Amino acid sequence: NKVENTSSKENEVSSETPRKKVPLMDYIGQYLGTYLIAQNEEGLYIIDQHAAAERVRYENYFERMSTVEVHSTKLLIPITLNLSNQEVLALQDKFNLFIPLGLELTANQYNGVDILSVPTWFPENFEREYTEEIVKYILDGKDVTIGDIRDSLAKNLSCKHSIKANKYINKNEIEKLLADLTNCINPYTCPHGRPVIIKFTQTEIEKMFKRIL
Ligand code: ZN
Ligand code: ZN
Repeated sequence: NKVENTSSKENEVSSETPRKKVPLMDYIGQYLGTYLIAQNEEGLYIIDQHAAAERVRYENYFERMSTVEVHSTKLLIPITLNLSNQEVLALQDKFNLFIPLGLELTANQYNGVDILSVPTWFPENFEREYTEEIVKYILDGKDVTIGDIRDSLAKNLSCKHSIKANKYINKNEIEKLLADLTNCINPYTCPHGRPVIIKFTQTEIEKMFKRIL
């Protein structure tokens, strides 16, 4: 059951050149709870479920972090971040760096930092985790802008959140994932460059069975 290490850098892909999109696929079944089998008129597909979910989220996050107009949601109850005293101190004059991301932070009366608002693209129940990840980026860099961290942040968040290998997902989720994948600009690799889809054409399969030469 390997779970990717999100803190270490996976191999980076040099560029995100758009590739051929995947036509809609019909879902056939799941193998080892990890791989999805699907087909369409172009062939048979084996899809790594984690890598696929990561690709879909990555493109979504990257796009939403790129839009000028950020939509954020005010939290009903502020969430306190788990930070060391040192981190709280380092953050004091940096709250404004979070605004372009749709994140509103404030010092609370207990020498901590509270989240007041989060961008609407944050998944529910991941508000603290996602904000802490962003805080890490901001504290690591000197004068980082969202432009500087957008790509690696989108990679990290999408990996963190994506369906882990071996996790059972229901048929609706699978079909949604496959449909989302067909909308991706670069569906064949995850943002770290690992394969998402292995494809066999009908010809390749027929050759394997020596039906054709
Ligand atoms: Zn991953
Ligand atoms: Zn990856």
